[in-house]
Amino acid sequence: MNLQQIEQQAAQTADEVAGLTSQLVQCNSAHPDGYTDKVVAVIKAYCDRHGIPNEVHANDPKKPNIVAKVKGTSDKTILWLGHIDVVPAGTPAFWTYPPYSGTIADGCVWGRGSSDMKGACASALVAARLLFQADEPPPYTVEFWFSSDEEIGGHEGATWLAKTGRLSGEVCLIGDGSGGGYALPSLDLGCKGALQVRLISKGHTAHGSTPFMGDNALRKLIDVVPAIERIGAFKLDYPAELAEVVQTSIAHFKASQDLTPAQAQAAERLYDYPSVACTMLNAGVKVNVVPDYAEAEFDIRLTPGSNPQAVAAQLQALLDETGVAGVELIATPDHTAGYYEAPDSPGAVALTETLRQVTGKEPLAKILTGGTDGISVRHYAGISSVGWGTSLTGMAHQPDERISIENLVLGVKVYTAFPYIYGG
Ligand SMILES: [Zn+2]
Repeated sequence: MNLQQIEQQAAQTADEVAGLTSQLVQCNSAHPDGYTDKVVAVIKAYCDRHGIPNEVHANDPKKPNIVAKVKGTSDKTILWLGHIDVVPAGTPAFWTYPPYSGTIADGCVWGRGSSDMKGACASALVAARLLFQADEPPPYTVEFWFSSDEEIGGHEGATWLAKTGRLSGEVCLIGDGSGGGYALPSLDLGCKGALQVRLISKGHTAHGSTPFMGDNALRKLIDVVPAIERIGAFKLDYPAELAEVVQTSIAHFKASQDLTPAQAQAAERLYDYPSVACTMLNAGVKVNVVPDYAEAEFDIRLTPGSNPQAVAAQLQALLDETGVAGVELIATPDHTAGYYEAPDSPGAVALTETLRQVTGKEPLAKILTGGTDGISVRHYAGISSVGWGTSLTGMAHQPDERISIENLVLGVKVYTAFPYIYGG
């Protein structure tokens, strides 16, 4: 198919892709359960209805993964990968429509997972149908993978699929994240990695009325938390070839949302320094008991290509400087934080060209601040991974999450065109 044919055919799929998104949203696959069996049943039914070959791969039967395979004219393979689990809906009162209603209104499909990322999954399924029914099959076989557990690290999903050798191909297009729609098209060359850190504080208990008889583990923890937060001033060392992408990533972050001056200033530091957030505290058994145990957790994000071991060593040094005894730091740095592809890698070049042709604009390259399944695909399956998603900017994990039907149709175009441009 040429671009004109793709544009024409995709333009007729608005009702289909919106309806499919709505159907997927109605299958609640929220964590902590994260059960995706109902979502997979919908995807399987769609594929079977159109005769598209598909396979279900499950380690946990409640958290299956499914792949739709469209045969190409060569034996080379392109992967597309998206996740079908979602984060919890949160407080129902914050939602205009019930979070699992999949309501279609005002040019959008509403509900938990619509933007992150059942909408992109629906776009991919419709793209699979167009490729499958095309008079001229794609030059590469295209496998569309729909995975579980992305929101909690990919255990039964992409990580398992990659580690068990089920994923193989030349390149993987990750459908997660916001590709900026028509207004601000952008592609992802990778994503930052997480260094999760835990502080464990131990002391001695005492009656709350005579605290000097004990050793308050919570008090000690509170004293050292600010020291750990100072990791935010530790300059990261990342490969020089990323310098330009770092600049465009910051520019994109600032251009794609309304920021206060303080937020804009913080965004300038997003890639040159670790981000750090103390996100969990756990201490105490009763108000009149001096706690003998307390723990805190931190979400620290690092630019790909930087050295997590150096960051972990600096964290230990910051803790040691406090002189507070009885607090232990647990940091398990991976060898690599996140991942990235060179801007001139074949996948990045083909995706840039696809977005240029479909949107008529020059897309910006960026590195995502959050993680995606691309990390597993890159590290465990060794497949070059680039990303472009249909999500509306800033919608992921929010109340009133929604996706525009315009973005869904754009997704159909991009996912259909990419295999022809990559293989052409
Ligand atoms: Zn996502």
